[in-house]
Amino acid sequence: MLEPATSVQYVKGIGPRLADVLAGKGIHTVDDLLHYLPFRYEDRLNPRSIAELRPGEMATIIAEVRNSGLFRTRRMPIFQMTAGQGRARLKCIWFNAAYLQDKFKPGQVVALYGKVDEDYRGGEVQIVQPQFEILSDSTDNASAVAEDRLAASLEIGRIVPIYEAAGQGRLTSRWFRRIIHTLLENLPPDLPDPIPPVVRGHLGLIPPREALWKVHWPEAGTSMEDLQSSRTPAHVRLIFEELFFVELGLELKRREQKAQTGIAFQLDERARSAIKKILPFHPTAAQKRALKEIAYDMQKPVPMRRLLQGDVGSGKTIVAFEAAIIAIENDFQVALMAPTEILAQQHYFSARRILDAAGYRIVLLTGSLEDDSKRETRRHIRQGNAQLVIGTHALIEQQVEFAKLGLVIVDEQHRFGVLQRFKLMKKSGEGGTGTGSVRVQESPAFGEPDVLVMTATPIPRTLALTLYGDLDISVIDEMPPGRTPIVTRRVSDEHESEVWDFVRKQVTAGQQTYVVYPVIEENEERELKAAMRMYKELSQRVFPDLRVGVLHGRMDPDLKEQVMRAFQKGELQILVSTTVIEVGVDVPNANVMVIEHAERFGLAQLHQLRGRIGRGAAKSYCILMTGGKISEDGERRLDAMVRTNDGFQIAELDLELRGPGEFFGTRQAGLPSFRVASLIRDRKLLEAAKREAAAVLDGPNADVSKEEIERALRHMRARWQKSYGLVEVG
Ligand code: ADP
Ligand code: MG
Repeated sequence: MLEPATSVQYVKGIGPRLADVLAGKGIHTVDDLLHYLPFRYEDRLNPRSIAELRPGEMATIIAEVRNSGLFRTRRMPIFQMTAGQGRARLKCIWFNAAYLQDKFKPGQVVALYGKVDEDYRGGEVQIVQPQFEILSDSTDNASAVAEDRLAASLEIGRIVPIYEAAGQGRLTSRWFRRIIHTLLENLPPDLPDPIPPVVRGHLGLIPPREALWKVHWPEAGTSMEDLQSSRTPAHVRLIFEELFFVELGLELKRREQKAQTGIAFQLDERARSAIKKILPFHPTAAQKRALKEIAYDMQKPVPMRRLLQGDVGSGKTIVAFEAAIIAIENDFQVALMAPTEILAQQHYFSARRILDAAGYRIVLLTGSLEDDSKRETRRHIRQGNAQLVIGTHALIEQQVEFAKLGLVIVDEQHRFGVLQRFKLMKKSGEGGTGTGSVRVQESPAFGEPDVLVMTATPIPRTLALTLYGDLDISVIDEMPPGRTPIVTRRVSDEHESEVWDFVRKQVTAGQQTYVVYPVIEENEERELKAAMRMYKELSQRVFPDLRVGVLHGRMDPDLKEQVMRAFQKGELQILVSTTVIEVGVDVPNANVMVIEHAERFGLAQLHQLRGRIGRGAAKSYCILMTGGKISEDGERRLDAMVRTNDGFQIAELDLELRGPGEFFGTRQAGLPSFRVASLIRDRKLLEAAKREAAAVLDGPNADVSKEEIERALRHMRARWQKSYGLVEVG
């Protein structure tokens, strides 16, 4: 009998070489292999007869190979195979498929799966590019007969699982079928269930052994629709289990953080009137609600770990400043960390403007400061003179000691996933803030600082639950009043001159315009050149009479700041820029944004960029210029941009188009990766998992015993350690 944790290399028929191939698929143990689920199923219990196939349907057909051959057309080689059942014939064709040449022999039994088409000559049906599996050779080789019988029992006359092949086709669907079948036969009869009984009861979960069998080898009569959509009881059981233990880990982490001693800030009359004094406008209901949630957390003696989420322009900054006031009025220091230097500067300017009335001592700590003034600033922070410290993450995390840090505000811009947060915490030891390692000079005699994380990207709820499962969430889901919605249009770059005419009209009327050019890291050199060429073209030829500036990531920080400030003050009328303006920049007088090569930008990025306009009273225009060929996904992105301004809708579509990993950038998604669950498909189960995990941790009680909780936690730790290398979670 094989233990679930056994390495696959010890499974009969695998060995070290194939184990390597499997490792490439994230399959290391027997348990992993058992959770390598079919990506679809074929109903070979009721395969279709060729005679009754209808164009347009997806069908599985089992038939005999009659003949096959390669045809060379002018454009590409086409492989054709005719399969038959009695007198009925089905033509199958594959494009560019010289490799199939010796694949089929007359008399072989094959399973074919694909979309039935009408043959262009009419009457007959055909399948273009069907998936196929050769089920038996018409061979008289005696030794193959026994083999064939096993194959037949697994591959015909039942619902058959189809697995994604691995190792460039070396490990076929058939191979997985057999190996997994063997593993299943060797499962212990009483596989323990790590999910507490009360939870199983709530969701009606079937036992793990049964789930594993049925997910790979569904019983006859199982709904094909449920199978294909991963909604059979077997699927639900396995998916829920995976999500449950992720959520259990997150929930536990959250409770541990809450168990630390925090600072109980006072929200007294002084703080209240300080807040009232600085408010330049009436906060929206959503802003009020968010602040109330934050203030409530801050008053409690446990550390706040809260995410403030809201679309671009929804007004997060002022809420963060209000939180800062509460801390400062309680004689604590506040750190505000921004992802880029430009943003740190921007926050600094807004802080100065808004908080001036309160007379706080605000300092900006950036890399471009002279060493002397950096030292000086750090001294102020260390001695407690500086009350609000603004800088980039890197600077504040690495080099700053605070006298009495009470609140850390992280303008995160979706750069950190939950795993990164945990890893950072590991580095900084016990005193970690949960978002970075801000050091406090004294051991936190006053308590752990509160942490408020702001994200500019609306995150679909499912992702928020996983990525920020360790945080409480406040959402600003309402825009400040008086905004006219942004009009978004697509224009092919053939109509460029009309676009520039429009820009000229707006600018002449006193508004400002952004022109954004994509510069993707991989081709940075080349694209930067293209961007600069365009800047020249615009400043010298198209708008020689207007004040045009340029901004890109490679510029000297001082120069960047100058340009940004000039644009902010209205000295520049047109700002040609790469995506460095994507985050946070706030110039209400800018009402037009032209995005060049919009088809190359990701959806979230387009939306972020667009968020730079529509901030003032004037009607705003986002012009998506396209040049060249646009992919299907590109079309969907542009369509979505034209159709909606709602960041949450955009985020949902973005998640669908790119998948959760890409959604947050491939390099550091910081997301737990799942074996069987999908964050897009399994939202409901994820929410259930979160709810159930919290309820279990509320125990022991009448519902769940101490032993059951301990068993679940042990299992959770083993899973987290294996999947994320995080030993100390929980
Ligand atoms: P974000 O959520 O993207 O950080 P900001 O905080 O930068 O948004 O706010 C965007 C703009 O809206 C700013 O110019 C800000 O002054 C303004 N603003 C924020 N809240 C309100 C409000 N309640 N009423 C009017 N204007 C507001
Ligand atoms: Mg902001």
